[in-house]
Amino acid sequence: MVKLADIAVTHERTFSFHCGACGKCCNSSPLLTMAELFRHQDRFIGCLSLRRVRPSHPEARKLAAMLGHVLPGGDSLMLAIQGVDYPSLAACPALGNDNLCTIHATRPTTCAVVPLDAWTPDALQSAVLASRRNGAAYIGADCISEGMRDGYQELVRHGRITSSAYAAALAQRRAAEAAEKAEWGNAVFRLLLPELLAAPGGIAALPVEGYRTLALAPVLAVIAAGSEPDRLRCLAFIDAQAALIRRHVAAAIARKQPADRTVTAMLRGFEAALLSLAARLRDGQAVTMAT
Ligand code: SF4
Ligand code: SF4
Repeated sequence: MVKLADIAVTHERTFSFHCGACGKCCNSSPLLTMAELFRHQDRFIGCLSLRRVRPSHPEARKLAAMLGHVLPGGDSLMLAIQGVDYPSLAACPALGNDNLCTIHATRPTTCAVVPLDAWTPDALQSAVLASRRNGAAYIGADCISEGMRDGYQELVRHGRITSSAYAAALAQRRAAEAAEKAEWGNAVFRLLLPELLAAPGGIAALPVEGYRTLALAPVLAVIAAGSEPDRLRCLAFIDAQAALIRRHVAAAIARKQPADRTVTAMLRGFEAALLSLAARLRDGQAVTMAT
């Protein structure tokens, strides 16, 4: 998240960008919307990611409250669908051997805003670019440049997004997040909040800017309750995700890397939670969630 000190330094600066398609920033599965995950259910394993954010700038706080969920105490909770895979693979499952995205035309809306950040107000994006220019995922790529440069397109000048394509991509991503919040986010937040408050340490146990990942079961339970086609869609999705998890776990076991064990345990937990939800959805039971 952007800090006030960063903003004071970077607000007046101009940044330009040129993607040389090196694939460096595609080093893990992306954030998705549920609609995108349904579309790519055989490629990305999805989980629910919780992130407590505390932006220091008033405009950033306003945006976080709009896209996320305000917690007791004033922080916001980001509830996001995150693609998850083995870090040892160090690549998004959609990245081709030629370092190009194999699903470019239908890539997640979050990928289309790279190297910007949808949770940062437009006026503060220069701070994002200043920090990402030397960030681990971009090091050596030389794709973000301060000032104008031959072959690069201007992205940000004096606190404004000057690329109409990027302004549109940010607007599309934020609209998608707002739609997800209305479709399932608010209901899942109401389900999770009592558990978060009752956990040892309460909300403070969720580290600021840290992530916690859960199985997608609460999200699917909310979506499946919408209509009979939604219930059937969720059941088909669970079948696809369980099969995908089993394929990824089998490949990890064949790789025999000790570092993969934690993720294998997590994925097996996700599979068990999804299959348990599927059993209840098939029985037509009312679904109450324990995460
Ligand atoms: S690191 Fe930069 S150049 Fe490489 S794929 Fe990402 S945006 Fe493009
Ligand atoms: S979906 Fe495509 S653009 Fe997005 S991280 Fe994966 S390879 Fe990169």
